[in-house]
Amino acid sequence: MPETSIAEIFRKKPISQEVHIRGWVYRRRKSGKILFLLIRECGAVLQCTFEEKIIGRTNFEKATKVTIESSVEIIGTIREEPRSPGGLELSGKSLKIIGLAEVFPITRDQSIAFLLDNRHLWLRSRKLTYIMQIRAAVFDAAREWFKLNGFIDVQCPMFITAAVEGGATLFKMKYFDTEVFLTQSSQFYLETLIFSLGNVYTIAPSFRAEKSRTVRHLTEFWMLEAEMPFCDLNRDIEIQEQLVSHICQTVARTKAEELEFLGRDPKELLIKPPFERISYSEAIDQLVKMDLKIEWGEDLGADEERALTKDRKSPLFIYNYPREAKAFYHKPDPSNPKVVNCADCLAPEGHGEIIGGGQRIHDKDELLQRIKDANLNPKDYEWYIDLRRFGTVPHAGFGLGMERLIKWICKLDNIRDTIPYPRTIRRVYP
Ligand code: ATP
Ligand code: MG
Repeated sequence: MPETSIAEIFRKKPISQEVHIRGWVYRRRKSGKILFLLIRECGAVLQCTFEEKIIGRTNFEKATKVTIESSVEIIGTIREEPRSPGGLELSGKSLKIIGLAEVFPITRDQSIAFLLDNRHLWLRSRKLTYIMQIRAAVFDAAREWFKLNGFIDVQCPMFITAAVEGGATLFKMKYFDTEVFLTQSSQFYLETLIFSLGNVYTIAPSFRAEKSRTVRHLTEFWMLEAEMPFCDLNRDIEIQEQLVSHICQTVARTKAEELEFLGRDPKELLIKPPFERISYSEAIDQLVKMDLKIEWGEDLGADEERALTKDRKSPLFIYNYPREAKAFYHKPDPSNPKVVNCADCLAPEGHGEIIGGGQRIHDKDELLQRIKDANLNPKDYEWYIDLRRFGTVPHAGFGLGMERLIKWICKLDNIRDTIPYPRTIRRVYP
Protein backbone atom coordinates (compact mmCIF):
# COMPACT_ATOMS: atom_id res chain seq x y z
CA MET A 1 0.00 0.00 0.00
CA PRO A 2 1.57 3.38 -1.00
CA GLU A 3 2.04 6.09 1.63
CA THR A 4 -0.35 9.04 1.59
CA SER A 5 0.50 12.49 2.89
CA ILE A 6 -1.73 13.85 5.63
CA ALA A 7 -2.46 16.92 3.52
CA GLU A 8 -3.74 14.63 0.77
CA ILE A 9 -6.02 12.82 3.22
CA PHE A 10 -7.68 16.13 4.09
CA ARG A 11 -7.95 17.00 0.38
CA LYS A 12 -9.37 13.66 -0.80
CA LYS A 13 -11.22 12.52 2.36
CA PRO A 14 -10.84 8.76 1.69
CA ILE A 15 -13.64 7.76 4.13
CA SER A 16 -13.63 4.04 5.04
CA GLN A 17 -10.44 3.47 3.08
CA GLU A 18 -7.21 2.09 4.46
CA VAL A 19 -4.25 4.50 4.35
CA HIS A 20 -0.55 4.35 5.19
CA ILE A 21 0.89 7.55 6.68
CA ARG A 22 4.21 8.75 8.08
CA GLY A 23 4.86 11.62 10.42
CA TRP A 24 5.84 12.83 13.89
CA VAL A 25 3.90 12.63 17.15
CA TYR A 26 2.61 16.10 17.91
CA ARG A 27 0.35 15.34 20.88
CA ARG A 28 -0.26 12.15 22.82
CA ARG A 29 -2.99 11.18 25.28
CA LYS A 30 -4.03 7.84 26.74
CA SER A 31 -7.49 7.29 28.06
CA GLY A 32 -8.03 3.78 29.46
CA LYS A 33 -7.58 1.37 26.59
CA ILE A 34 -7.47 4.03 23.88
CA LEU A 35 -4.36 5.90 22.75
CA PHE A 36 -4.92 9.22 20.96
CA LEU A 37 -2.08 10.58 18.83
CA LEU A 38 -1.99 13.76 16.78
CA ILE A 39 0.38 13.08 13.91
CA ARG A 40 2.05 16.02 12.21
CA GLU A 41 3.45 16.14 8.69
CA CYS A 42 4.42 19.36 6.84
CA GLY A 43 2.03 21.53 8.87
CA ALA A 44 -0.97 19.16 8.55
CA VAL A 45 -2.19 17.29 11.63
CA LEU A 46 -4.33 14.13 11.76
CA GLN A 47 -5.83 12.52 14.86
CA CYS A 48 -5.14 8.78 15.11
CA THR A 49 -6.64 6.41 17.68
CA PHE A 50 -5.40 2.99 18.75
CA GLU A 51 -7.71 0.74 20.72
CA GLU A 52 -6.49 -2.28 22.63
CA LYS A 53 -9.50 -4.29 21.53
CA ILE A 54 -8.60 -3.72 17.85
CA ILE A 55 -4.80 -4.06 17.83
CA GLY A 56 -4.37 -6.52 20.70
CA ARG A 57 -2.73 -6.13 24.10
CA THR A 58 0.93 -6.55 23.11
CA ASN A 59 0.71 -4.09 20.22
CA PHE A 60 -1.23 -1.64 22.38
CA GLU A 61 1.45 -1.74 25.07
CA LYS A 62 4.17 -1.16 22.47
CA ALA A 63 2.23 1.72 20.96
CA THR A 64 1.79 3.47 24.31
CA LYS A 65 5.61 3.74 24.59
CA VAL A 66 5.63 6.32 21.79
CA THR A 67 6.82 9.79 22.84
CA ILE A 68 6.30 13.35 21.57
CA GLU A 69 8.27 13.99 18.32
CA SER A 70 8.92 10.29 17.66
CA SER A 71 8.74 9.49 13.96
CA VAL A 72 6.15 6.86 13.10
CA GLU A 73 4.51 4.88 10.31
CA ILE A 74 0.82 4.15 10.72
CA ILE A 75 -1.71 2.04 8.84
CA GLY A 76 -5.40 2.51 9.51
CA THR A 77 -8.83 3.44 8.22
CA ILE A 78 -10.14 6.97 7.81
CA ARG A 79 -13.51 7.89 9.28
CA GLU A 80 -15.45 11.09 9.85
CA GLU A 81 -15.12 12.43 13.39
CA PRO A 82 -16.53 15.91 14.00
CA ARG A 83 -14.66 16.24 17.32
CA SER A 84 -11.17 15.83 15.85
CA PRO A 85 -9.20 18.60 14.06
CA GLY A 86 -10.31 18.82 10.42
CA GLY A 87 -13.25 16.46 11.04
CA LEU A 88 -11.33 13.26 10.14
CA GLU A 89 -9.78 10.55 12.25
CA LEU A 90 -7.64 7.55 11.53
CA SER A 91 -8.58 4.35 13.31
CA GLY A 92 -5.23 2.63 13.73
CA LYS A 93 -4.43 -0.96 12.75
CA SER A 94 -0.65 -0.77 13.17
CA LEU A 95 1.92 1.67 14.49
CA LYS A 96 5.62 1.37 13.80
CA ILE A 97 8.04 3.60 15.70
CA ILE A 98 10.89 4.60 13.37
CA GLY A 99 12.79 6.93 15.69
CA LEU A 100 11.80 6.95 19.36
CA ALA A 101 12.33 10.53 20.58
CA GLU A 102 14.01 11.45 23.85
CA VAL A 103 12.14 13.92 26.07
CA PHE A 104 11.47 16.84 23.74
CA PRO A 105 12.89 20.00 25.33
CA ILE A 106 10.32 22.38 23.90
CA THR A 107 7.12 22.62 25.92
CA ARG A 108 4.78 25.53 26.58
CA ASP A 109 5.88 28.88 28.05
CA GLN A 110 9.54 28.85 27.21
CA SER A 111 11.65 31.97 26.93
CA ILE A 112 12.51 33.43 23.53
CA ALA A 113 16.21 32.86 24.27
CA PHE A 114 15.61 29.16 24.96
CA LEU A 115 13.56 28.80 21.81
CA LEU A 116 16.28 30.52 19.75
CA ASP A 117 18.96 28.23 21.23
CA ASN A 118 16.74 25.33 20.13
CA ARG A 119 15.76 26.84 16.81
CA HIS A 120 16.61 23.57 15.00
CA LEU A 121 13.78 21.92 16.99
CA TRP A 122 11.48 24.92 17.31
CA LEU A 123 11.26 25.02 13.51
CA ARG A 124 8.87 22.06 13.86
CA SER A 125 6.23 24.25 15.50
CA ARG A 126 3.11 24.89 13.52
CA LYS A 127 3.67 28.63 13.49
CA LEU A 128 7.19 28.42 12.05
CA THR A 129 6.17 25.67 9.62
CA TYR A 130 3.42 27.90 8.21
CA ILE A 131 5.70 30.93 8.01
CA MET A 132 8.35 28.96 6.12
CA GLN A 133 5.71 27.62 3.72
CA ILE A 134 4.47 31.17 3.14
CA ARG A 135 8.09 32.32 2.71
CA ALA A 136 8.56 29.75 -0.07
CA ALA A 137 5.33 30.93 -1.71
CA VAL A 138 6.58 34.54 -1.58
CA PHE A 139 9.86 33.58 -3.32
CA ASP A 140 7.96 31.54 -5.93
CA ALA A 141 5.47 34.32 -6.65
CA ALA A 142 8.27 36.89 -7.03
CA ARG A 143 10.15 34.70 -9.52
CA GLU A 144 6.90 34.01 -11.34
CA TRP A 145 6.21 37.74 -11.80
CA PHE A 146 9.71 38.34 -13.18
CA LYS A 147 9.40 35.41 -15.54
CA LEU A 148 5.99 36.57 -16.79
CA ASN A 149 7.47 40.03 -17.41
CA GLY A 150 10.61 38.98 -19.27
CA PHE A 151 13.22 39.77 -16.61
CA ILE A 152 16.39 37.68 -16.58
CA ASP A 153 17.47 35.97 -13.36
CA VAL A 154 21.19 36.61 -12.68
CA GLN A 155 23.68 35.81 -9.91
CA CYS A 156 26.27 38.21 -8.55
CA PRO A 157 29.31 37.74 -6.27
CA MET A 158 29.11 37.76 -2.48
CA PHE A 159 32.82 38.69 -2.02
CA ILE A 160 33.15 42.31 -3.05
CA THR A 161 35.54 45.26 -2.88
CA ALA A 162 33.26 48.27 -3.62
CA ALA A 163 30.73 49.20 -0.94
CA VAL A 164 27.20 50.03 -2.07
CA GLU A 165 25.52 51.23 1.13
CA GLY A 166 28.46 52.78 2.97
CA GLY A 167 31.24 51.57 5.25
CA ALA A 168 29.48 51.51 8.62
CA THR A 169 27.70 48.21 8.10
CA LEU A 170 30.33 46.38 6.01
CA PHE A 171 31.53 42.96 7.13
CA LYS A 172 35.25 42.76 6.43
CA MET A 173 36.95 39.42 5.96
CA LYS A 174 40.33 38.00 5.21
CA TYR A 175 40.66 36.79 1.63
CA PHE A 176 44.05 35.09 1.15
CA ASP A 177 46.55 37.95 1.51
CA THR A 178 44.03 40.74 1.18
CA GLU A 179 40.78 41.96 2.70
CA VAL A 180 37.35 41.91 1.09
CA PHE A 181 33.76 42.61 2.16
CA LEU A 182 30.62 40.54 2.16
CA THR A 183 28.06 42.08 -0.18
CA GLN A 184 25.44 44.52 1.13
CA SER A 185 23.66 44.71 -2.21
CA SER A 186 24.11 43.34 -5.74
CA GLN A 187 22.97 46.60 -7.30
CA PHE A 188 26.25 47.66 -8.95
CA TYR A 189 26.68 44.24 -10.55
CA LEU A 190 23.08 44.28 -11.77
CA GLU A 191 23.81 47.67 -13.34
CA THR A 192 26.65 46.09 -15.34
CA LEU A 193 24.32 43.40 -16.67
CA ILE A 194 21.56 45.64 -18.09
CA PHE A 195 23.87 46.50 -21.02
CA SER A 196 23.79 42.94 -22.29
CA LEU A 197 20.65 41.42 -20.79
CA GLY A 198 18.14 44.26 -20.44
CA ASN A 199 15.84 43.95 -17.42
CA VAL A 200 17.53 41.78 -14.78
CA TYR A 201 16.84 40.64 -11.22
CA THR A 202 18.46 38.58 -8.51
CA ILE A 203 17.42 37.15 -5.15
CA ALA A 204 20.54 36.92 -3.00
CA PRO A 205 21.83 37.27 0.53
CA SER A 206 22.83 40.67 1.84
CA PHE A 207 25.16 41.04 4.81
CA ARG A 208 25.09 44.10 7.04
CA ALA A 209 26.83 44.63 10.36
CA GLU A 210 23.72 46.14 11.98
CA LYS A 211 24.89 46.99 15.46
CA SER A 212 21.56 47.99 16.95
CA ARG A 213 18.94 45.43 17.84
CA THR A 214 15.65 46.27 16.15
CA VAL A 215 12.58 44.29 15.14
CA ARG A 216 13.35 44.82 11.44
CA HIS A 217 17.10 44.34 10.98
CA LEU A 218 19.03 41.11 10.49
CA THR A 219 22.75 40.89 9.76
CA GLU A 220 22.08 38.37 7.00
CA PHE A 221 18.93 38.75 4.94
CA TRP A 222 17.68 38.03 1.43
CA MET A 223 17.24 40.87 -0.96
CA LEU A 224 15.37 40.86 -4.23
CA GLU A 225 16.95 43.41 -6.54
CA ALA A 226 16.03 44.49 -10.05
CA GLU A 227 17.62 46.90 -12.49
CA MET A 228 16.11 48.23 -15.71
CA PRO A 229 17.75 50.18 -18.59
CA PHE A 230 15.86 53.16 -20.09
CA CYS A 231 13.82 53.44 -16.93
CA ASP A 232 12.82 56.46 -14.86
CA LEU A 233 11.49 56.71 -11.29
CA ASN A 234 7.86 56.59 -12.38
CA ARG A 235 8.31 53.32 -14.30
CA ASP A 236 10.45 51.94 -11.46
CA ILE A 237 7.58 52.54 -8.99
CA GLU A 238 5.04 50.96 -11.36
CA ILE A 239 7.15 47.82 -11.58
CA GLN A 240 7.45 47.62 -7.78
CA GLU A 241 3.72 48.01 -7.15
CA GLN A 242 2.86 45.37 -9.73
CA LEU A 243 5.39 42.95 -8.27
CA VAL A 244 4.30 43.48 -4.66
CA SER A 245 0.60 43.19 -5.59
CA HIS A 246 1.25 39.97 -7.52
CA ILE A 247 3.11 38.43 -4.57
CA CYS A 248 0.45 39.45 -2.02
CA GLN A 249 -2.48 38.31 -4.15
CA THR A 250 -0.85 34.97 -4.98
CA VAL A 251 -0.03 34.24 -1.35
CA ALA A 252 -3.54 35.31 -0.23
CA ARG A 253 -5.00 32.83 -2.71
CA THR A 254 -2.68 29.87 -2.15
CA LYS A 255 -1.87 30.18 1.58
CA ALA A 256 -5.17 31.39 3.04
CA GLU A 257 -5.37 28.82 5.84
CA GLU A 258 -1.76 29.38 6.94
CA LEU A 259 -2.26 33.17 6.92
CA GLU A 260 -5.42 32.89 9.01
CA PHE A 261 -3.59 30.76 11.57
CA LEU A 262 -1.08 33.61 11.91
CA GLY A 263 -3.87 36.14 12.43
CA ARG A 264 -3.70 37.65 8.94
CA ASP A 265 -6.99 37.91 7.05
CA PRO A 266 -5.99 36.95 3.45
CA LYS A 267 -8.47 39.56 2.12
CA GLU A 268 -6.19 42.26 3.54
CA LEU A 269 -3.55 41.17 1.03
CA LEU A 270 -5.73 41.64 -2.05
CA ILE A 271 -4.00 44.95 -2.78
CA LYS A 272 -3.90 46.53 -6.22
CA PRO A 273 -1.74 49.16 -7.91
CA PRO A 274 -1.43 52.10 -7.87
CA PHE A 275 -0.23 52.64 -4.28
CA GLU A 276 -0.45 56.15 -2.86
CA ARG A 277 2.62 58.36 -3.41
CA ILE A 278 3.69 61.33 -1.30
CA SER A 279 6.89 63.34 -1.47
CA TYR A 280 9.42 63.31 1.35
CA SER A 281 8.57 66.98 2.04
CA GLU A 282 4.86 66.14 2.39
CA ALA A 283 5.82 63.27 4.73
CA ILE A 284 7.81 65.69 6.92
CA ASP A 285 4.82 68.09 7.05
CA GLN A 286 2.53 65.24 8.14
CA LEU A 287 5.03 64.08 10.79
CA VAL A 288 5.46 67.56 12.23
CA LYS A 289 1.65 67.84 12.49
CA MET A 290 1.70 64.55 14.42
CA ASP A 291 4.22 66.14 16.83
CA LEU A 292 7.16 63.96 15.83
CA LYS A 293 10.54 65.62 16.17
CA ILE A 294 12.04 65.55 12.71
CA GLU A 295 13.49 68.18 10.45
CA TRP A 296 13.73 68.39 6.70
CA GLY A 297 16.97 66.65 5.68
CA GLU A 298 16.91 63.79 8.18
CA ASP A 299 16.24 60.22 7.07
CA LEU A 300 13.01 58.61 8.23
CA GLY A 301 13.46 56.00 10.95
CA ALA A 302 11.23 53.26 12.30
CA ASP A 303 9.15 55.67 14.45
CA GLU A 304 8.42 58.03 11.58
CA GLU A 305 7.58 55.18 9.21
CA ARG A 306 5.25 53.65 11.80
CA ALA A 307 3.45 56.95 12.27
CA LEU A 308 2.98 57.36 8.51
CA THR A 309 1.71 53.82 7.89
CA LYS A 310 -0.04 52.57 11.03
CA ASP A 311 -3.53 53.48 9.84
CA ARG A 312 -3.01 52.41 6.23
CA LYS A 313 -4.26 49.26 4.54
CA SER A 314 -2.09 49.46 1.42
CA PRO A 315 1.59 50.34 0.87
CA LEU A 316 2.78 53.91 0.51
CA PHE A 317 5.60 55.33 -1.65
CA ILE A 318 7.66 58.25 -0.37
CA TYR A 319 9.69 59.87 -3.13
CA ASN A 320 12.33 62.60 -3.51
CA TYR A 321 14.38 62.21 -0.34
CA PRO A 322 17.08 64.81 0.39
CA ARG A 323 20.37 64.07 -1.33
CA GLU A 324 22.20 63.85 2.01
CA ALA A 325 19.92 61.11 3.31
CA LYS A 326 20.75 58.72 0.45
CA ALA A 327 23.82 56.95 -1.00
CA PHE A 328 25.97 58.69 -3.61
CA TYR A 329 24.66 56.92 -6.73
CA HIS A 330 21.11 58.36 -6.53
CA LYS A 331 20.21 60.72 -9.36
CA PRO A 332 19.40 64.29 -8.27
CA ASP A 333 16.05 65.59 -9.49
CA PRO A 334 16.81 67.98 -12.40
CA SER A 335 14.08 70.39 -11.22
CA ASN A 336 15.34 70.43 -7.60
CA PRO A 337 18.89 69.10 -7.10
CA LYS A 338 18.48 69.14 -3.30
CA VAL A 339 16.45 65.94 -3.62
CA VAL A 340 17.05 62.69 -5.49
CA ASN A 341 14.76 60.71 -7.80
CA CYS A 342 14.32 57.85 -5.41
CA ALA A 343 11.41 56.26 -3.58
CA ASP A 344 10.99 53.99 -0.58
CA CYS A 345 7.99 51.68 -0.43
CA LEU A 346 6.50 51.44 3.07
CA ALA A 347 4.30 48.54 4.10
CA PRO A 348 1.05 49.42 5.89
CA GLU A 349 -0.02 48.79 9.53
CA GLY A 350 3.17 50.36 10.86
CA HIS A 351 5.56 47.84 9.27
CA GLY A 352 7.47 50.52 7.35
CA GLU A 353 10.15 50.29 4.66
CA ILE A 354 10.22 47.16 2.52
CA ILE A 355 11.81 48.58 -0.66
CA GLY A 356 14.40 51.23 -1.45
CA GLY A 357 14.73 52.19 -5.08
CA GLY A 358 15.26 54.91 -7.63
CA GLN A 359 17.06 56.27 -10.62
CA ARG A 360 20.87 55.98 -10.77
CA ILE A 361 23.25 58.71 -11.91
CA HIS A 362 24.15 57.85 -15.50
CA ASP A 363 26.44 60.79 -16.29
CA LYS A 364 30.14 60.09 -15.66
CA ASP A 365 31.18 63.53 -14.37
CA GLU A 366 28.16 63.83 -12.11
CA LEU A 367 28.91 60.39 -10.62
CA LEU A 368 32.60 61.23 -10.09
CA GLN A 369 31.63 64.41 -8.27
CA ARG A 370 29.21 62.57 -5.98
CA ILE A 371 31.84 59.89 -5.19
CA LYS A 372 34.27 62.64 -4.17
CA ASP A 373 31.60 64.52 -2.16
CA ALA A 374 30.96 61.30 -0.24
CA ASN A 375 34.69 61.05 0.60
CA LEU A 376 35.02 57.80 -1.31
CA ASN A 377 37.94 56.85 -3.50
CA PRO A 378 37.06 56.85 -7.24
CA LYS A 379 39.72 54.12 -7.74
CA ASP A 380 37.51 51.67 -5.81
CA TYR A 381 34.66 52.38 -8.24
CA GLU A 382 36.59 52.31 -11.53
CA TRP A 383 34.51 49.56 -13.12
CA TYR A 384 31.28 51.18 -11.92
CA ILE A 385 32.31 54.50 -13.48
CA ASP A 386 33.20 52.65 -16.72
CA LEU A 387 29.51 51.90 -17.24
CA ARG A 388 29.06 55.67 -17.71
CA ARG A 389 31.90 55.72 -20.28
CA PHE A 390 30.60 53.09 -22.68
CA GLY A 391 27.06 53.64 -23.92
CA THR A 392 25.48 54.94 -20.73
CA VAL A 393 21.66 55.02 -20.45
CA PRO A 394 19.20 56.36 -17.87
CA HIS A 395 18.37 53.45 -15.61
CA ALA A 396 16.68 52.63 -12.34
CA GLY A 397 16.14 49.75 -9.96
CA PHE A 398 15.22 48.73 -6.45
CA GLY A 399 16.00 46.40 -3.57
CA LEU A 400 13.22 44.63 -1.67
CA GLY A 401 13.96 43.00 1.68
CA MET A 402 12.26 39.59 1.50
CA GLU A 403 12.09 39.21 5.28
CA ARG A 404 10.52 42.66 5.69
CA LEU A 405 7.87 41.72 3.12
CA ILE A 406 7.21 38.38 4.84
CA LYS A 407 6.99 40.10 8.24
CA TRP A 408 4.18 42.29 6.93
CA ILE A 409 2.41 39.50 5.00
CA CYS A 410 2.48 37.21 8.07
CA LYS A 411 1.58 40.07 10.44
CA LEU A 412 4.60 39.48 12.70
CA ASP A 413 5.98 41.94 15.26
CA ASN A 414 9.58 40.84 14.75
CA ILE A 415 11.59 39.98 11.62
CA ARG A 416 13.25 37.07 13.48
CA ASP A 417 10.67 34.44 12.58
CA THR A 418 10.60 35.17 8.86
CA ILE A 419 13.78 33.15 8.21
CA PRO A 420 14.77 29.66 9.48
CA TYR A 421 17.98 30.80 11.19
CA PRO A 422 17.93 34.52 12.00
CA ARG A 423 21.35 36.17 12.29
CA THR A 424 21.65 39.19 14.56
CA ILE A 425 24.46 40.96 16.41
CA ARG A 426 24.23 38.42 19.25
CA ARG A 427 23.18 35.26 17.45
CA VAL A 428 24.94 32.95 15.01
CA TYR A 429 23.95 29.66 16.72
CA PRO A 430 22.56 27.19 15.74
P1 ATP B 1 16.78 50.79 6.92
O1 ATP B 1 16.74 52.27 6.84
O2 ATP B 1 15.50 50.19 7.42
O3 ATP B 1 17.99 50.25 7.60
P2 ATP B 1 18.03 50.76 4.38
O4 ATP B 1 17.73 52.12 3.89
O5 ATP B 1 19.35 50.47 4.98
O6 ATP B 1 16.88 50.28 5.41
P3 ATP B 1 18.30 49.69 1.72
O7 ATP B 1 19.77 49.83 1.77
O8 ATP B 1 17.52 50.59 0.84
O9 ATP B 1 17.72 49.72 3.20
O10 ATP B 1 17.98 48.16 1.38
C1 ATP B 1 16.85 47.77 0.62
C2 ATP B 1 15.88 46.96 1.43
O11 ATP B 1 16.53 45.89 2.11
C3 ATP B 1 15.18 47.72 2.54
O12 ATP B 1 14.08 48.43 2.03
C4 ATP B 1 14.77 46.63 3.47
O13 ATP B 1 13.58 46.00 3.00
C5 ATP B 1 15.88 45.62 3.34
N1 ATP B 1 16.83 45.71 4.45
C6 ATP B 1 17.81 46.62 4.62
N2 ATP B 1 18.54 46.36 5.71
C7 ATP B 1 18.01 45.23 6.25
C8 ATP B 1 18.34 44.43 7.37
N3 ATP B 1 19.38 44.71 8.15
N4 ATP B 1 17.60 43.33 7.63
C9 ATP B 1 16.56 43.01 6.83
N5 ATP B 1 16.20 43.72 5.75
C10 ATP B 1 16.91 44.82 5.45
MG1 MG C 1 19.94 50.35 6.93
